[in-house]
Amino acid sequence: MIVSIAVGAVLLITALVVFVIYKKGPHGDKRSGPSLLANNLRNEKQKSELIIGAIADGVILLDKNMNIQLFNTAAQQISGWQKEDALSLVYSSVIQLVDDKDVPYDKDQDPFLKASQTLQSVRDNKATMVTKSNKRASISIIVSPLLSDKQELEGLIAVFRDVSEERDEEHRRADFISTASHEMRTPVAAIEGYLALALNEKVCQIDQKGREYLNKAHSSTQHLGKLFQDLLTSTKAEDGRLSSSPQVVEMGLYLEHLVEDLRVAAQKKGLDVAYQIGASGMSSDDRHNSVAGQKMIRPLYYTFVDPERIREVITNLFDNGVKYSEKGLITIGITGDDKVVQLRVSDQGMGIPSEDIPHLFQKFYRVDNSSTRTIGGTGLGLFICRKIVELYNGKIWVESQLGQGSTFFINVPRLSNDRAQQILDKEAKQGIVSPTIGVV
Ligand code: ADP
Repeated sequence: MIVSIAVGAVLLITALVVFVIYKKGPHGDKRSGPSLLANNLRNEKQKSELIIGAIADGVILLDKNMNIQLFNTAAQQISGWQKEDALSLVYSSVIQLVDDKDVPYDKDQDPFLKASQTLQSVRDNKATMVTKSNKRASISIIVSPLLSDKQELEGLIAVFRDVSEERDEEHRRADFISTASHEMRTPVAAIEGYLALALNEKVCQIDQKGREYLNKAHSSTQHLGKLFQDLLTSTKAEDGRLSSSPQVVEMGLYLEHLVEDLRVAAQKKGLDVAYQIGASGMSSDDRHNSVAGQKMIRPLYYTFVDPERIREVITNLFDNGVKYSEKGLITIGITGDDKVVQLRVSDQGMGIPSEDIPHLFQKFYRVDNSSTRTIGGTGLGLFICRKIVELYNGKIWVESQLGQGSTFFINVPRLSNDRAQQILDKEAKQGIVSPTIGVV
């Protein structure tokens, strides 16, 4: 669908250039009366209008003042606006876009403004158009700039398609997956519970062979349970239903506690774990040390996030570090500047091939090589991490060297100490207790 819109856009730009030239008039031709050139252009214009009219996608041409110069039949059908009413109006009084929560696009989301500012094509597959009769049409839209020889903006061309049916279908599919995984998770949890009981020596007597089989069944059931849980979370994340209760979290202290919970899993595999606070890599022990009788004070990294969601992200990255390392150290670290708190999880494991890095945070993406093939996984963990981090306007990325290890970074907006204190005071009045308000 996106490709066909893109190809359509290229064809259209050609047709529209003719249209624009015609509208401007045959410059350079000083003769009065009909000329050959004028006739040719008129014929070309008629052809262009025919092509544009026959196209099933909505096509809108704007001049450089963002006023509508062309509005084809499909644009009329999708938007509900008549061409006669729309022509010459500024685009924003005709094309109103909202997001999936029905909130009008701001200037950073508006593909017309973005294309006119960046002079690049801007695509948006998630927009919803408010039609003239105030109905909602899900659309996929590409807005491309028309540039002069001097690369100055001459106008914009928008090509869009009504994708309401496809989006409804996507929602139905997502609903099905989330209902199915929810329903299947319950019996799987019961099976896992009974297998755990059977393996408990205080409760059950089984011979060595039986224990071996049950151990295998138990770990496969755990894997299945995690798969259902991840499927459920990722479907919710995709259609914006991921629950989140943000509050003030002092991330330095929060991570310190979390590392203690995670340490055991790494140590079982013989891996060391370290926690570093601050740019200089101060360890958690350093905080309690006295230097010449003075206590070292570390910065406070306040954020406004749901601590349970951040736990999910860090645990996922940490578990991956353990899973994809045979030896070495797993380090959890935190630094920041005025605006950002940066968390990182690094390992000294197998690393990630550079060609896989751009795809890593996509749904179901797994690196496929001889080392990873034997390690179980769903390819959903990093997708879920990205979706959670994006809930807090954050960013997640990875730097990795094959055979040397990987570092996953997360940036989330930082709250100033004053701002954090204001929110904490307000929360205290409402009886909300932050898990990490303690100042060390
Ligand atoms: P999975 O369940 O497969 O681990 P993820 O989404 O968590 O799914 O990770 C996607 C892929 O990224 C993994 O299959 C693995 O190939 C790669 N990967 C993730 N973390 C690491 C890491 N710390 N070291 C090496 N490869 C990693």
